[in-house]
Amino acid sequence: MEALRWLIPLLALVVIFVVGGRAILSLSSRRSEEPLLCTTCGGQTDMPQSQIRGSRVIEIILWLAFVIPGLLYSLWRQSTRQKVCPTCGSATLILANTPEGRRRAEQLSKGKG
Ligand SMILES: [Zn+2]
Repeated sequence: MEALRWLIPLLALVVIFVVGGRAILSLSSRRSEEPLLCTTCGGQTDMPQSQIRGSRVIEIILWLAFVIPGLLYSLWRQSTRQKVCPTCGSATLILANTPEGRRRAEQLSKGKG
């Protein structure tokens, strides 16, 4: 199997690249964040959850079956990462410490009361 000679080091390189990239992304997103306001439920948080689109199962299948589509799929999923509200799961978080954020917080608290 001549092809395996270059395929295995290439696979190892790609895995290191993807795992390393994810580690860097998760480290940077864990830093203390600015308070965020959810415009859907009015919840405030400084620890938004991050959510990515796509399926881990499809990702694994693509990786096992074809390396390049697997890599592309992984990269696409990483690019769709977004911050979501830990209360309701909506991706409608805005910065709370802005005039807009304060205005929306006021509106939402009035709407509830
Ligand atoms: Zn919410």
